[in-house]
Amino acid sequence: MKSAKYIFVTGGVTSSLGKGIISASLAKLLQGRGFSVTIQKLDPYINVDPGTLNPYEHGECYVTEDGAETDLDLGHYERFSNTPTSQANNVTTGRIYQYVIDLERKGEFLGTTVQVIPHITDEIKRRISLLGQTGKYDFVITEIGGTVGDIESFPFIEAIRQMRWEMGQSCAVIHLTLVPYLAAAGELKTKPTQHSVKTMLEQGVQPDIIVCRTEHHLNENIRTKIAQFCNVEPMCVIESIDAESIYDVPLLMLEEKLDIEVLKKTNTPIPDTIDISRWENFLFRLKNPKRTVTVGLVGKYVELKDAYKSINESFIHGGVANDCKVIVKHIHSETITDATVEEILSDVDGVLVAPGFGARGIEGKIIAIKYARENKVPFLGICLGMQCAVIEFGRNVLDYKDANSTEMDPTTEYPVIDIMTEQKSIENKGGTMRLGSYPCRLETTSKVFELYGEENISERHRHRFEFNNSYRDAYNNHGMKTIGIYPEDDLVEIIELQNHPWFVGVQFHPEYKSTVACPHPLFVGFIEAILANKPVS
Ligand code: GLN
Repeated sequence: MKSAKYIFVTGGVTSSLGKGIISASLAKLLQGRGFSVTIQKLDPYINVDPGTLNPYEHGECYVTEDGAETDLDLGHYERFSNTPTSQANNVTTGRIYQYVIDLERKGEFLGTTVQVIPHITDEIKRRISLLGQTGKYDFVITEIGGTVGDIESFPFIEAIRQMRWEMGQSCAVIHLTLVPYLAAAGELKTKPTQHSVKTMLEQGVQPDIIVCRTEHHLNENIRTKIAQFCNVEPMCVIESIDAESIYDVPLLMLEEKLDIEVLKKTNTPIPDTIDISRWENFLFRLKNPKRTVTVGLVGKYVELKDAYKSINESFIHGGVANDCKVIVKHIHSETITDATVEEILSDVDGVLVAPGFGARGIEGKIIAIKYARENKVPFLGICLGMQCAVIEFGRNVLDYKDANSTEMDPTTEYPVIDIMTEQKSIENKGGTMRLGSYPCRLETTSKVFELYGEENISERHRHRFEFNNSYRDAYNNHGMKTIGIYPEDDLVEIIELQNHPWFVGVQFHPEYKSTVACPHPLFVGFIEAILANKPVS
């Protein structure tokens, strides 16, 4: 049984400074020194989870093995640390209140007045401690979403204040701020950082370490100034300079000794060595690609790169495994028509059709798939992307006029994609899809089997609709093979087209499982197929 130490990561000045990447980088360094680490995100909003949030609001919804719909930062945690997360790793204000109110309704508070302090803060503390109490981790890193000073983050900061008071040197607080550069003055400015730390102090929390996001290097003067005004030691002022890639950040933090300062602050003996050679090797290959390919990512949220975060990162991993730089061309499916498709896809070497919900943009996706199928362009369809490939094949090869998914057209004559039986009676939207990890058995004659190298795989899901088994024989007889099946309910999980260089559709989301240490076989195989299909220039 390990007794865990707790690291809190808060943010100040603005949002989007990269607390998730700093937390994940710290985890990577601590792992490199032999510690076991998990990372948790506490989100101050009232939604019970981000599953019901529009990607325009909150980017991608990331799904864990146990089927939790979580914040996209959990994707970074897994990609960096190569350790699965779970529902316990993402808690929102909504979930905390829901739990406390349920207890109140059951009479568990025995007539006392239920209040933010202590009831909500106690529940926050319990959720933080749960991961530590598993006995699996040396460190639990807890990232607090939002920015200090926000009304909704008060109870979280108060919970941290109490935990520090109760646990002393078993806790450390890292505060991430922005040190802006004023071009007119030619200077970096520390005042926003000072104010942000003051806000923390008003709430009773003195940060131990200040990580300063900056566009320019911090000189000694600036470091000393921040140290003096914010009551931290000069070596605890850590520079986080803008980097070419998020994958540079662990090494930048190593240079700045973030891990060493955390170990010192938590009174942890510092191991002499650190092993992050695999990470360094990945970074070297990332920066020295031998070839370049362009993939068209056809989706409906293209103006928003966070909406397809895990897919973009999986392309980086799959590219590096092939020593190949992958340029992802984001294509708005609503711009694709029979008239425009050729021009839009003329410069891409492969096509990925993205997951999604609802009818908007679906016809463009189907046209893009037809183009990839007929022109033998390597294709990967994920979830809705796989469903669209089935619809396209139905309409254009099997001659099923206006074939569709009942999600888009409930009265279609050819419902080749239909709602899953167990979904029919569900009315609540949150957390009710087929979510998380399910097994799948592969046909051993398939290309996909060769990539995985095993017959029984397990992948993560997030859907309500499925391939309609009444059409299975027709598809198989005409060359769209159903080569991956969820054995318990006989659901189609994977389709593969014959007589095509590489055309694969998956009902699950491979992008959630791709990490730096273990790039996903489907992304590795997709890039490999694109390279094989593309003449060397
Ligand atoms: N809307 C489809 C379904 O619910 C696909 C979901 C997805 O792409 N994640 O089945």
